[in-house]
Amino acid sequence: MPDSKLDAPVKPRSAALDPANLDTLRELGHRMLDDMFDSLESIGEGQVWQKMPDAVRAAWQDKLPHEATEPAQVYADFQRLIAPYVVGNRHPQFLGWVHGGGTAIGMLAEMLAGGLNANCGGRDHAPIAVERQVIAWAAQMLGFPPDASGLLMTGTSLANFAAILVARAAAIGPQVRQGGAAGTQLVGYAAASAHLCVARGFDMAGLGSDALRMIDVDGNHRINLSALRQRIAADRAVGRHPFMLIGTAGSVDVGAIDDLPALADLCTQEGLWLHIDAAFGAIAMLSPKLRPLLAGIERADSVAFDFHKWAQVPYDCGCLIVRDAEAHQAAFARKADYLSRAPSGLAAGTPWPVDLGPELSRGFRALKVWMTIKTYGADKLGAVAEHCCDLAQRLAILIDAEPRLHRAAPVPLNIVCFRVIGVDDAQHIHIAAQLQEAGQVVLSTTNVGGQTVLRAAFVNHRTTPDDVCAVVRAVVAQATLASLRTAC
Ligand SMILES: *Cc1c(COP(=O)(O)O)cnc(C)c1O
Repeated sequence: MPDSKLDAPVKPRSAALDPANLDTLRELGHRMLDDMFDSLESIGEGQVWQKMPDAVRAAWQDKLPHEATEPAQVYADFQRLIAPYVVGNRHPQFLGWVHGGGTAIGMLAEMLAGGLNANCGGRDHAPIAVERQVIAWAAQMLGFPPDASGLLMTGTSLANFAAILVARAAAIGPQVRQGGAAGTQLVGYAAASAHLCVARGFDMAGLGSDALRMIDVDGNHRINLSALRQRIAADRAVGRHPFMLIGTAGSVDVGAIDDLPALADLCTQEGLWLHIDAAFGAIAMLSPKLRPLLAGIERADSVAFDFHKWAQVPYDCGCLIVRDAEAHQAAFARKADYLSRAPSGLAAGTPWPVDLGPELSRGFRALKVWMTIKTYGADKLGAVAEHCCDLAQRLAILIDAEPRLHRAAPVPLNIVCFRVIGVDDAQHIHIAAQLQEAGQVVLSTTNVGGQTVLRAAFVNHRTTPDDVCAVVRAVVAQATLASLRTAC
């Protein structure tokens, strides 16, 4: 029987998406680069942030386009509808949240990584070697042994989650991965001020966020050690299984650093896994002046931190470091025929990143980290962290000298929390929003000691002492308006 499908005339065509002639696109690419360099050069001149106008918002309700659009037109849309309406964290007067400022070299690295389109789930190729190099540098920065394991991830939220999974498997054996965590009685501990992703990590790990005991903080916003000891004893007394303590090195609200040597001692005594959330704080290890503040971090079992905050690597890039490489793999590695390893060829070179975390396909994040560290050198990144802490101290001094402002917390690192005297919580939220909408300076709000405060976080390498003065002037002017509104 003749196969009618085989008999049918087939017109071999190419489905390739590369244009026959790259010259037009090449020209456009050069223009994109020039435009972006121009925008970086003048970054401090424009508004920090501007709200999307209704017409722009409406443009984002388009139907799925079936027809082609010229790249130049697509780029024009980017320039008109996207570029002016970003968060603003590249701007020196963005102090709102703990966001890095990014760099031109990081941007170029993103472009190169996109060009290579490497899949970094595994296999034997240079991008995996680059990631291992970056992990080894991170271990060295933290004072971990050279054979420590690690993985680049989207951010500290995921790195904390992965650390919880590693600690969970280390505590009760990898069979928890088959049997689940129900009935294990596992409980962990963190300061009440720990980042919300820690509780969410307990939730996602199947332990339930109630299994994370939120311990009160002391007057310096560090975890209260006697309350912590009492809670561990109380949990043991009712048959719970304490397995993990999450310390913070740079808390998100005020920048507090837990007493890390005391946490390490306690974990040794109690047989707990010590994980440190050092999301931005870890980079302080690159500054000889700041490093002593983090003493003890080298005794942790695992550390999570971000390259996209203080290290200025463009979003996104977090990092997990685990002291015990076997424990790290025991939490994630799993056999699959389509991912089998070979002694040679592309399938060589185990362990692969897929053995160390929840993702398979992943981009070449390591390139922008490697290029950033090579380009500036680790000392320079440490100097950026130091500069940010100096700016925070300067702001604290200006606030203390300004009768209309009141500092709400100590400034151990790079975050300053303060209040405007005589205005209530709602007015503080209003002042922050008004400043944001004016596009002058971006601050955020948080809660310290039950009160809403304005928060300035110094993370951006572009921020200068003049910007600090501008912040105080803008806040005082806005606060004067606010109190006028209250009075009249
Ligand atoms: C930013 C931050 C996180 C979350 O990190 P992402 O990179 O945003 O996922 C966790 N903990 C602390 C202390 C942080 O500052």
